[in-house]
Amino acid sequence: MDGTFKDNDYSKVVDADRAHVWHHLIQHKGFETGEPKMIIEGKGIKVWDQHGKEHTDAVSGGVWTVNVGYGRESIANAVRDQLVKMNFFGGTTGSIPGALFAEKLITKMPGMSRVYYANSGSEANEKGFKIVRQIAHKRYGGKKHKILYRDRDYHGSTLATMSAGGQDERNAQYGPFAPGFIRVPHCMEYRKHEQDGAPEENYGVWAANQIEEVILREGADTVGALCLEPVTAGGGVITPPEGYWERVQEICKKYDILLHIDEVVCGVGRTGVWFGYQNYGIKPDIVTMAKGVASGYAAISCCVTTEEVFDMFKDDPSDPLSYFRDISTFGGCTAGPAAALENMRIIEDENLMANTLDMGARMMGNLQALSEKHAVIGDVRGKGLFIGAELVSDRGTKEAMDEKMVGAVVADCMAQGVIIGATNRSIPGRNNTLCFSPALIATADDIDHITDAVDQALGSVFG
Ligand code: PMP
Repeated sequence: MDGTFKDNDYSKVVDADRAHVWHHLIQHKGFETGEPKMIIEGKGIKVWDQHGKEHTDAVSGGVWTVNVGYGRESIANAVRDQLVKMNFFGGTTGSIPGALFAEKLITKMPGMSRVYYANSGSEANEKGFKIVRQIAHKRYGGKKHKILYRDRDYHGSTLATMSAGGQDERNAQYGPFAPGFIRVPHCMEYRKHEQDGAPEENYGVWAANQIEEVILREGADTVGALCLEPVTAGGGVITPPEGYWERVQEICKKYDILLHIDEVVCGVGRTGVWFGYQNYGIKPDIVTMAKGVASGYAAISCCVTTEEVFDMFKDDPSDPLSYFRDISTFGGCTAGPAAALENMRIIEDENLMANTLDMGARMMGNLQALSEKHAVIGDVRGKGLFIGAELVSDRGTKEAMDEKMVGAVVADCMAQGVIIGATNRSIPGRNNTLCFSPALIATADDIDHITDAVDQALGSVFG
C-alpha cells in the first residue's frame, strides 16, 4: 500500500486546494506561481506528496504529532468500531472510550487524577487557565488570578493562549491581549550571555530565581499559576538547565502557585518517558496534552488535574457557581479517546519509549558528529526523539544564522526527500534551530538517512 497513489494525477485536487484552501502559516502569494504541497499518503515514517515523491518525515506530521507513525490500521479500526456504535454525545455525559482512556492515562501519571476532554492543545491550555481563574474567584476573591508564562514558550493560537505566548513575532498584529498574563524570562543556557546578570555557574537556579523575582514584583497573592513547557518546543527546543526544575517547584510551593505543565509536544512518549515533566521529578497540578495523544488519527486534547484541584470544584453543591462551568462540544467525540487508547497500547506493546531513548541517543550522536564538521552548528540539544540543532554564523559570538539560510537547509533536505523542521523562523535572530522529531518507530537506518541529508544540505548551503 506504500505510495499506491503515486501514479494518479492530482492536478484537479491541487487546483481545488489552490483556489479555495487557506493554508496555515504561509504567505499565499507564492502559490500564484508555485504549487501548495499536499501529502497524499503515509506509511510508517514515510509520506508521499501529490507528485508521488517519497519523503522521510523527520517531524511527525510537520508539528510533532504522529508519534506511532502513519497507516496504523488498528487505530483506524478502533475508531471505526467506536463510531458505528456511538460517535458522539456531548455536554454532561460520559462514554466508554472516554472512561477507559482516562483510567489508562492516569496510570501513566502518578499524582494526577482527572481528565477533561477537548480538541486542541490551545483549547486544553485554555481549560487550564479557566480552572486557575475560577479557583482565584472561589478561594481568593478573584485576586490570585495572574498566570505566569515564559519567554519563548508557546501555548496556542487562540487569544488567551497568545496572551500567554512567549514568541513576540507570532503575536505582533493580534493584540490587544487578555490582561493578567505575565511573562517570566527564559532558561536557555546556550544564550545566557544575552541575559543581564546571568552567572557562569548555577545558571539553572539563577534562571528559576528570575521567576521568583517576577512573583515578588507582582505580589504573590495575585499569582495563581505558572504555565511552562517541560522542554520548550517551537521557541528553540530548549532543554532546562541543571537545577532549574527543582527550584521552580520550590518556588511554586512557597507561594502557593499552581504549576501548569504544557505537554502538548512532549507528552505521550516523545522524550522517552510518558510525559516530559517526568524527566525532571516535577509534581504538577495541571497537565495539558494534545498532539501525540492520538498521533493525529483523531482530534483530542486533555487537561488533566490532581484530585486536589478537582475537589475545589465540588466544594459547595448548593452553589451554582461552584462547579466548572465549561464545555467543549467536540470533547464529547468518541473517536479521540478510542484512537488514544489504541495509540497508547501500541506504544506499550511495541516498546516505543525504549526505542525513543535509543534512537534519540543515536540522533544526538550523529548531529554532534556533524557539528565537528560544520561550524554553523552552534548547539545540539534535546530529549528522546525531540532534538534541535541551533545554527549560528559565528560560534564565538553565537550570532544567530540568517533565517533565509536556515530555510535553505530545510529546503535542501526537502529536495533530498527528507522533511525536517525549523523553529518559528519569523523571529529574526531568535529562531534559527533545525528541529527533528521523527515518529517513535524510527529505525537506525531512518535516523542515519535523516542526518546524512542534513550533512549534505549543510555542505551545499554553506560550502
Ligand atoms: N502548546 C505547545 C507547546 C505547542 O507546541 C502547541 C502547538 N504547536 C500548542 C500548545 C497548541 O496546540 P494546537 O495547535 O493543537 O492548538
